[in-house]
Amino acid sequence: MPLPSIMKHNAVKCSAKSKRTGLHCNNPAAHGCKTCRMHGARKAETIKRGKDHPNFVHGERSLEGIKRHREVMRRITMLTKLAKQLGMIK
Ligand SMILES: [Zn+2]
Repeated sequence: MPLPSIMKHNAVKCSAKSKRTGLHCNNPAAHGCKTCRMHGARKAETIKRGKDHPNFVHGERSLEGIKRHREVMRRITMLTKLAKQLGMIK
C-alpha cells in the first residue's frame, strides 16, 4: 500500500519495478527525481554519461557505440542482400 504522501498529496511515485514480483515500488520519488532513495534517486543533470562516466573505457558499449555498431551492421546486411540479388555472392 502506498504511503499517505502519495495517496493524500498526490506525490510522484517511484518508477522502479521489482525484478522478482514485477510490481511497482510504492515509495514516493525523491525531489526532482524519477525514483526513490532506495532505487538510486539521482537528478538527471548529475548523471555522468559518455567519457565523463567513471567506468568509461573505450566507448564500444556506450549508447553512441551501440548505435554506431547497429548502423554499420544494418548497412552490411543491406549490402549483403544487394550483392546476393545481383549474383555477386552466393
Ligand atoms: Zn523505489
